[in-house]
Amino acid sequence: MKKDSSKWRRLGLIVLIIGTLTLMGCSSLSLESFKTVKGSNMDQEDRQGAGGQGESPPEGSQGEDVTAEKPAHEEDNPIQEGNEGSDTNEEGNSNPVFTEIPPSQNTQESPVTASPEPAPPGTPVRTFYELSGTPPTAPGLAMKHRVFKEEPPKIVYLTIDDGPSENTVHILDILKQEEVNATFFVIGTQVERYPELLKKAYEQGNAIGNHTYSHNYSEIYQSPEAFVANLKKNEELIYKLIGVRPKVIRTPGGTHGNFHISYYNAVDAQDYLVYDWNVSTGDASAPLVPAETLIKNVKEQAPGRDRIILLMHDAPGKWTTVDALPKIIRFLKEQGYEFGVLSPEVAPILFPGGFYS
Ligand SMILES: [Zn+2]
Repeated sequence: MKKDSSKWRRLGLIVLIIGTLTLMGCSSLSLESFKTVKGSNMDQEDRQGAGGQGESPPEGSQGEDVTAEKPAHEEDNPIQEGNEGSDTNEEGNSNPVFTEIPPSQNTQESPVTASPEPAPPGTPVRTFYELSGTPPTAPGLAMKHRVFKEEPPKIVYLTIDDGPSENTVHILDILKQEEVNATFFVIGTQVERYPELLKKAYEQGNAIGNHTYSHNYSEIYQSPEAFVANLKKNEELIYKLIGVRPKVIRTPGGTHGNFHISYYNAVDAQDYLVYDWNVSTGDASAPLVPAETLIKNVKEQAPGRDRIILLMHDAPGKWTTVDALPKIIRFLKEQGYEFGVLSPEVAPILFPGGFYS
């Protein structure tokens, strides 16, 4: 008898746990469904979007620190983006009503949906996000479904890496003058040096992305765990200064040659989204590249792309980037681009290489 009743109690407990889990699943689902999904107008090009299967890895992927990049892929997605500027959605503030978050969980973080199971062997390799939010696929890959916003027919996301630096003030002045915003992928050691500039950039309506604490390849690319730990260290710094935990990240040097399946899984499990680029100023191909070359690179790479993530740097000594910036912005305006900032609701552009390894 005693045995039986404890058995029933156990069973009851299990049912309770399952019930709670189901409820939580439903709640997060319904939260998601409040956000509008706008992927339906996806066309053929979108499907090939971020460098479809078989497309060779972008030559320029290493260019963040070495050579000029070539665009990775074509994208045509008529999505419109609502909130340029101020609200970057870096940090989910949609707090669920249900609760009991394990103590280790930081309550500031957005509710993370459970990580999917790694895809089985034989899963076809698809290296890009669908605009409907379907993540890339590959054997062993476990990336979550996302919800992306609509964007205007032509949109450019200026991304400025490696700051803050002595150039940030000038970059911010230009952005303000041109009435556009950008996404600053900042390095922790630079944030420590220029905390006020990080605040200023954020307060001006720019988005802040995480570019690791140390930017030291031998340190961060030791393992996925080391990479995530380095991100978190930077995240704490950023959070203390501006009160948000950026979920958009850029890997130093880009993903190509640095990231493989286990890195993607590790960052996705922490709810980060990784952004490479498809147009580059090429300002990291040498210590100082003439401003004319930077402008020319953009003019050559932009045509035919309706959706651009543009790479440039905010680093000591790179004053030609500052020089070129107003002309680059004006050129893009003339071409009909609107300017957006990255947030988890913007579909990433990814170099395809890492999904094959
Ligand atoms: Zn960098």
